[in-house]
Amino acid sequence: MTNALDLSVAQWEAVLKAAGEPAFRARQVFAWLHKGARFSQMANLPKALRERLAAQYDDAGVVIEKRFVSELDGTVKYLYRLCDGNFIEGVRMRYHYGDTLCVSTQVGCRMGCRFCASTLEGLARNLTAGEILGQLVAAQAEGKINNIVLMGSGEPLDNYDNTVRFLHLLREKGGVEMSMRSVSLSTCGLVPQLRALAGEGLPVTLSVSLHAPNDAIRRQVMPVADAYGMDALLDACRYYLEKTGRRVIFEYALIEGLNSAPAHAQELAARLRGMQCHVNLIPLNPVPERQLRGATRRTAEAFLQELTRLHISATIRREMGRDISGACGQLRRRYLRRETETPGGL
Ligand code: SAH
Repeated sequence: MTNALDLSVAQWEAVLKAAGEPAFRARQVFAWLHKGARFSQMANLPKALRERLAAQYDDAGVVIEKRFVSELDGTVKYLYRLCDGNFIEGVRMRYHYGDTLCVSTQVGCRMGCRFCASTLEGLARNLTAGEILGQLVAAQAEGKINNIVLMGSGEPLDNYDNTVRFLHLLREKGGVEMSMRSVSLSTCGLVPQLRALAGEGLPVTLSVSLHAPNDAIRRQVMPVADAYGMDALLDACRYYLEKTGRRVIFEYALIEGLNSAPAHAQELAARLRGMQCHVNLIPLNPVPERQLRGATRRTAEAFLQELTRLHISATIRREMGRDISGACGQLRRRYLRRETETPGGL
């Protein structure tokens, strides 16, 4: 059954017109769904219509199965259940300027980054646009979300069409109505799709997971680097900047003994010179299944200092939700394991 949140206002207009309903019903249905309502709750719709729609469209949305609240910083980790029984995760981060929701775009991931837990079991399937939106609708039911980051499980540009459709749904009038200024999309660097995104007229903030100052190091931790070299990737970022006017954010996880020496900072600075960008230094979240270790705070600070000295804008990202498996894919994995080992949850 089609997820009701997949449809745009125009698509609802077509559906309702075919059912002999007036055009204004489309906006009513769309607004209700974006508020998290089910057809049976749509008080201003005729009962017969509600029943007909409920028989044709899945309005259960994305269901919050479990939530974990960090005692350290109030970060909330959600485990969502999809209509086919798959699980995905998301995180609500609380900042002084409001709440940011980290959203997944796929169940699992096939990009194979060596430090990431989301990719350990490969890709199960893509999420539909409505399932990506459904995470926001479910979270928003328990408090306003001001910003969205597409940084959960999955590679948004590997699920390009649904991700773009989701972005259109986000800003449509009468729905959740979120501006593209409030959205960040994080990618491991699929160059053709990145260039395509630049031309969509959807000026989201682009975050690129770089994690290395050169191809040789990048290839050691990111298989995608075999397909697209850093020159091509940085050219695509410049193109994105030119088309959208948005500075690009580079994510750089500091890994002990791999990419975190001052010489790496110098090499990175040389590659990024002259580009309007910002580098987000991330303390690597240790993933038990992976051998990689995060750099120490001292190493991170030295790296930051070197970038700053070379006039590259950079900050060290604050860690949030450390006590509740904040890192990508950790919760779903833990949950899947426990489900099979000890039924009864976490
Ligand atoms: N596929 C997209 C978005 C999901 S990952 C991407 O690659 O950007 C979101 C961010 O978390 C990426 O920057 C990713 O490289 C990073 N990440 C994944 N595992 C991590 C870990 N164990 N520690 C720190 N950052 C991690």
